[in-house]
Amino acid sequence: MMISEKAKQHVESCRFCWMCHHICPIGNATGHERSTPRARALGISLVNRNAIELSEIIDNIYECAGCGACVHDCTTAWDPVMFTKEVRLQAALEDQLPAYINTLVDNCLTTGNAYGKTELCESLTAAIKAHAEPTDTLLYLGVDARTMACKQALKAIKVLEKAGVAFTVLLDEPASGAQLDFLIGAAEETKEQMQTVANVMNHYKTVVCYDPADAKTVKQTFGEYGIELTCKAVTYTAFLAELLRSGALKAENKGKTVVFQDPFQLSRDLGETEEAREVIAAFATLEEMHLNREETVWAGNILMAQYLPEVMKLVAERRIFNAKSLAKKAIVTASVSEYTSLKNVAQNEIEILSLDDLILD
Ligand code: SF4
Ligand code: SF4
Repeated sequence: MMISEKAKQHVESCRFCWMCHHICPIGNATGHERSTPRARALGISLVNRNAIELSEIIDNIYECAGCGACVHDCTTAWDPVMFTKEVRLQAALEDQLPAYINTLVDNCLTTGNAYGKTELCESLTAAIKAHAEPTDTLLYLGVDARTMACKQALKAIKVLEKAGVAFTVLLDEPASGAQLDFLIGAAEETKEQMQTVANVMNHYKTVVCYDPADAKTVKQTFGEYGIELTCKAVTYTAFLAELLRSGALKAENKGKTVVFQDPFQLSRDLGETEEAREVIAAFATLEEMHLNREETVWAGNILMAQYLPEVMKLVAERRIFNAKSLAKKAIVTASVSEYTSLKNVAQNEIEILSLDDLILD
C-alpha cells in the first residue's frame, strides 16, 4: 500500500500505550478493540508489511470519525487521523473502497452531497430566495443543514434576519469538499470541489460557515491543500458573538440552564471554544459538560449514520449519558450534525437544543 513516509512513520511509531484507548467515541460505543486508534494503527502496519490485505481492515478504516480525540491525547504526538485519511485516499486510488462508501462518494460527485439529495425542502427554498440578492456577506449553510436538516438551516436564516444582517444565501450552493475529504481524503476530486466553492466564496467579503465541518474545511484544510481564499471566512458561532457584542443581536436570558456540546472542529481543530459560550451565556445560564472544550467527546454525525446507524445511536446515547450523570437538563449544540444525532436518541430527560433554538425561543 502506497502511503507517505510520514504516515508510515506515524503508524509504526504508535507504541500501543493505550493512552488513546479510552477516549475514542467509536471504540467506546462498539466496545470492540478493533475500533480503537491503536488497533487501527496495528492493522495498517500489517497491511504495510504485506501480512494482510487492505480489504481485511477497510471497514475499520471507515469507522474513524476523524474527531481527533486520539490526536489530542496521544502521548507521543502521533496522528491517527492523518494516517487514516491517507489510507482512505489510497483505497480510493486502488479501487478498494467498500460499496457503501463508493455510493456516498458517487453521490458527492453527482449531487454535491453524500446523500444524493437533489431538492431542498419548500420552506428552505423560499427562505433562500428571499436572500438571493448579492451582499457582502454569504451565509454558507452546508450540505447537512440544506439536505438533511432544513429546519435548522431555516433557523440560521431567521437568526441573522433577527439581528438585521444583510446577507446572501445561495440556492445552488456548491459543496465545501468536507464530505469528500472525509471519504477519500486529498484526492483530485476533493480539491476540485474545494476550488469550485472557493471561487464562489471569493465573490464575498465575509463568508459565515454555519456548519463547523465546513468552517474547519474552509479555514484550515483549504490552506493545507493550496486552495486560495481571499474572502474572510468566519464560523457561525464567532459571527453570532460579534453580533452580540455590537448590539445587533439582543441578549435575553430565557431562564434555561444548559451545557454546551463543543464540536471538535471548533474546539480542537480551530481552537475556538469561547464564542459559543459567550452567546449561550447571554441567552441562558451556562454550565459545563463532562469533557468540554478541547477535551470534547463527539456526539455523532449524519454522514456516518448512513453506514453505521447503530453505532451513531450508541455514540449519541453515551454523550447524553454524560449530561444525565451530571444531572444536567439541556444540551446546546453548535453542529447541525451533532444536533441531529442527539435528537435521534429516543429519550426525554435531556432537552437537545441548537444555538438557534436558544436565540429564537
Ligand atoms: S479520530 Fe476520533 S474516532 Fe478516529 S480513532 Fe481517533 S478518537 Fe477514534
Ligand atoms: S496514545 Fe498514541 S502511541 Fe499510544 S496507543 Fe494511542 S496512538 Fe498509539
